Amino acid sequence: MNSAPQASYSWQARSRSRSRRWVLWTLLVALLVALLSTLVWLAGRYEVSQVQSRLEQDAAQMATDIRAALTRNVQSFQALQVNSPSPEVWRLLAADLLRENREMMRLESRDQALDLVAFAETPYRTSVFERLGRGATRSDVRFACTAAQRFSGPAYSTSYFLPQADGLGLEVLDMCLPVLVSGQLAGYLVATYSLPGILSELVGRRVARGQGLAFTEADGTRLAMYGNPTRGSRAYIAQQLLDLPGNTLVLRLESQRSTQALFPNLLTALVTAMSMALVAVLALLGRDMRRRLKVEHDLADALAFRKAMEDSLVTGMRARDLQGRVTYVNPAFCQMVGMEAGELLNNGVPPPYWPPERVEEYGQRQASRLALGATLPREGFESVFMRRDGSRFPVLIIEAPLINAVGKQTGWMSAILDVSEQRRIEELSRASQDRLQATARLATVGEMASLLSHELNQPLAAISSYATGSLNLLQSAAADVRQPSSNEDLQLAMRRIAEQAERAGKVIKSVHDFVRRREQVREPIEPRMLLDAVMPLVSLQARKLAVRVLIEVDPGCGPVLCDRTMVEQVLLNLARNGMQAMQALDKNRRADKVLTLRVRPAASNAWSRWVEFAVIDHGEGISEKLAQQLFTPFFTTKAEGMGLGLSLCRTVIEQHGGFLGFEAVSPQGTIFTFTLPEATSPGKPPELAVQAAPAS
Ligand code: ADP
Repeated sequence: MNSAPQASYSWQARSRSRSRRWVLWTLLVALLVALLSTLVWLAGRYEVSQVQSRLEQDAAQMATDIRAALTRNVQSFQALQVNSPSPEVWRLLAADLLRENREMMRLESRDQALDLVAFAETPYRTSVFERLGRGATRSDVRFACTAAQRFSGPAYSTSYFLPQADGLGLEVLDMCLPVLVSGQLAGYLVATYSLPGILSELVGRRVARGQGLAFTEADGTRLAMYGNPTRGSRAYIAQQLLDLPGNTLVLRLESQRSTQALFPNLLTALVTAMSMALVAVLALLGRDMRRRLKVEHDLADALAFRKAMEDSLVTGMRARDLQGRVTYVNPAFCQMVGMEAGELLNNGVPPPYWPPERVEEYGQRQASRLALGATLPREGFESVFMRRDGSRFPVLIIEAPLINAVGKQTGWMSAILDVSEQRRIEELSRASQDRLQATARLATVGEMASLLSHELNQPLAAISSYATGSLNLLQSAAADVRQPSSNEDLQLAMRRIAEQAERAGKVIKSVHDFVRRREQVREPIEPRMLLDAVMPLVSLQARKLAVRVLIEVDPGCGPVLCDRTMVEQVLLNLARNGMQAMQALDKNRRADKVLTLRVRPAASNAWSRWVEFAVIDHGEGISEKLAQQLFTPFFTTKAEGMGLGLSLCRTVIEQHGGFLGFEAVSPQGTIFTFTLPEATSPGKPPELAVQAAPAS
């Protein structure tokens, strides 16, 4: 009814749900991207912290190693002083120590006033003090030794730079160890360490490729360096304080960040790969969803179209399952029987639209039809259904098996047409046909009335003349009683009068019979009797038109099943038309004015036998132009004709299941033939029997 607002409403709802879907999808993608980037970032961070903590550990270990080595060296120095060797011996022992420990640049034995007693230089290079001279660093030594004296143990000076002869320089550090003899300070041992030497000799082996180890100042200035110094900011850095008595150095371990690989380690790579896979799956899912939505949309459209089609159908549709229960009805069917779909569906057998008096018959019919399965004939069959108000109405049902997607029969689908209107129209047209036929018959009667008056004239004139003759005879007999012959004459005249009166009576009766018989009953009747019945009327006209009537009946013809009055009228019509067609023949061809009424068996089959009636004239014939209009009602070429004869004749014959046609006769004339079923036909063919049977 209000389909336009509904359509716009559903369009709005659809667009709203589409935009909501869009928002959801965008949110999902954004969340996923955020989650994945966080994950990748966290994985990277984790990996960096792993490397960093490893580096810190390494740096701490290195600092410990350096401290241990320096302590070991202190022990070696103490061993050097054992037994207070002479300066020569000391020098030899010191030279040995210097050979073994490459980090030491120079060993000095000093007295209590810090004056040099003996010294030895490393054999691996020229003297580090060659350029500057030892005197310049005296204050450093003094500080260290003062501290050493205070600690009563080794003390280290701050590092200082020594320019070298080769143009480069060397950062060195002095260590001062107080030498005690019997608990009394006997002098000092001063060792000069090279800072690069400490790095390379004491922990150099632990520095991996790509790493750099350095001593730095607090502001980051490198004092000494070992390994690959890092450039730029992309480096891992671990710093450790190297606490020495009197001095604290900063040990800095640097590791180059491997920038060439996009993914620093397996974890990050794995997480990234999985994230990418997830995004790809999401994209595929999105595409799949889009396709699904499209299919869903198409399906909804198709469904809506089907529903609209179903609702606008005027044919009732009904589906039944294999047990005969109604599983589907369309609105047209509901309207037809005046019930709601809910009352009809799955309500078992019998359905509420079966008239109660026919339930048993329909039940049997349904069982036998369902048993036929897929071999059920496709022709429609007629049945009677009942409306809610109890009124019955005729329907035409066309039923077909309902086959599901896998080709299995799941029930029956029927199209149902309400044919009550059609039946009403048929009834109306039959009634008007009847009225027409009656009119035509009356017209024939009117035509015959003139013939009748002419025909009755003869017997009446004869009766009148016989009566006059008889009167004359009676008068003369009264005058002369001796005339004996007059009595016989009188008798003869009276007999003639009676004969003529009977003849006139017959003429009147034939017309009366023709007009009066109305009931439409089909009865078996001999063809000969049909001809005999019309013969008085035919011969009436034949005599007037000077036509000779011949009758040929094949003795092999059995009785025909027909409505007598109707067929007689057909015969009469055809005979009259034939005779009128010969009216125009000129006088000298009188001999040709013959009308033949012929009856013989017609072509028959196993189920029905037919009889052919023919009316043959030698009249003017029927031209092609005339032939086209011959059966049109009210077509006539005659001044007094009605033009209804032939069209009614054909209707009558077709109502009997027969056929009416005509052909030309050589050399001149027409033959009209029609067929009627023989009353002794064995029966109708089986499919006709099924078609005609009532069913549910
Ligand atoms: P009507 O006899 O009242 O004219 P019909 O329907 O019987 O009506 O015939 C229609 C017309 O067909 C006739 O007027 C006539 O011209 C033509 N016709 C019928 N039968 C014959 C025939 N046997 N020979 C020639 N013409 C015929």
